[in-house]
Amino acid sequence: MTEALEVNEKLALHGGTPIRSTRLPYGRQAIDEADIRAVVDVLRSDFLTTGPAVDAFERRIADYVGAKYAVAFANGTAALHGAVFAAGIGPGDEVITTPMTFAASANCVLYMGGTPVFADIQPDTYNIDPDAVKACITPRTKAILPVHYTGQPADMDEILSIAKRHGLMVIEDAAHALGATYKGRRIGTLGDMTVFSLHPVKPVTTGEGGVVTTNDDRLYQRLRLFRTHGITRDPSFLEDDQGPWYYEMQYLGFNYRLTDIQAALGTSQMDKLDVFIRRRAEIAKKYTEAFASMPELETPYQREDRTSGWHLYVIRLNLSALRVGRRQVYEALLAENIGVNVHYIPVYHHPYYRRMGYSRGLCPRAEELYERILTLPLFPGMTDDDVCDVIRAVKKVLGYYRV
Ligand SMILES: *Cc1c(COP(=O)(O)O)cnc(C)c1O
Repeated sequence: MTEALEVNEKLALHGGTPIRSTRLPYGRQAIDEADIRAVVDVLRSDFLTTGPAVDAFERRIADYVGAKYAVAFANGTAALHGAVFAAGIGPGDEVITTPMTFAASANCVLYMGGTPVFADIQPDTYNIDPDAVKACITPRTKAILPVHYTGQPADMDEILSIAKRHGLMVIEDAAHALGATYKGRRIGTLGDMTVFSLHPVKPVTTGEGGVVTTNDDRLYQRLRLFRTHGITRDPSFLEDDQGPWYYEMQYLGFNYRLTDIQAALGTSQMDKLDVFIRRRAEIAKKYTEAFASMPELETPYQREDRTSGWHLYVIRLNLSALRVGRRQVYEALLAENIGVNVHYIPVYHHPYYRRMGYSRGLCPRAEELYERILTLPLFPGMTDDDVCDVIRAVKKVLGYYRV
């Protein structure tokens, strides 16, 4: 049977007409006229790349999170790669991370020849569990790489204290968490380096883009070198001096630069970040209130000493209250034109990781969670009507499949 026919059959199951006539995506950028003007201004200027708009954007990010430095990259994955390079990770080194994340959080360790080690998640926040981190430490451990899942900061005090005790670096994957706070401090200065993504579904966007923040001068220099082929022209770092043209390639870096066109968009987006987060939090609150009394699902659990960037709104299905599994619920919501998603497939379930020898059962809590989660649409441009549609669709579908 074709996919189209399956969908039609599901629509019939639910009474024919979908709640929405057009697909609501799970995430999308919010671009206004000021953003467009900022990009056009750069197009008319002298520099499309390595110009002043990149410096201005880096300053803006660093000031916003309260860090000494920010280094912009071509995308969040490149920024993670840069951070793992700057941390000095290499073959034989282990980096502890969570399986409940996008593959890039672990891939960046592989890029440098290191070994990702997966620590299980907490049952309530779905963030990396500090006790599980402790259990993963070996003499080869060099760094901990927590991910602030959905935008809610991980247990950083506990993670930083483990790192301190064992002399480990902490690299935060804060792709979801620009603007989130932990005990009153913005994410961006807690670990040695913090990595943000600027992909269109993330808190602010540059199309593609990433940025690393740090307070450490040495890490800052290494990040900058890595972004530009490992090349420096800075006289204070040169090993030789052959003339005013002279530059040196000191490491095997990449061309991972962000353009000025993108950076200008990023600076303009930063004007709206707090408004974006407020709207995301407002929508999340509407969902949580609407679903509070439904035994078929659990809404996201939030710790009181931190605020989320609300990148994602993830519900956990209570499968014992439903006649079907997550797949049917997902398909039924899609048939209602609600763009649901699943964040994430545990990283080591991917064939590439399986072939390296990671096997099922490694992180039972993450694996069990994966069977039950759905991401609902959440982005600043959603209207109240959009939010209502999602709520109605979830109630309709889960009501239908209730035991
Ligand atoms: C989006 C994302 C990345 C990768 O960022 P890109 O900018 O898409 O390369 C890394 N980690 C997490 C958790 C992400 O959500």
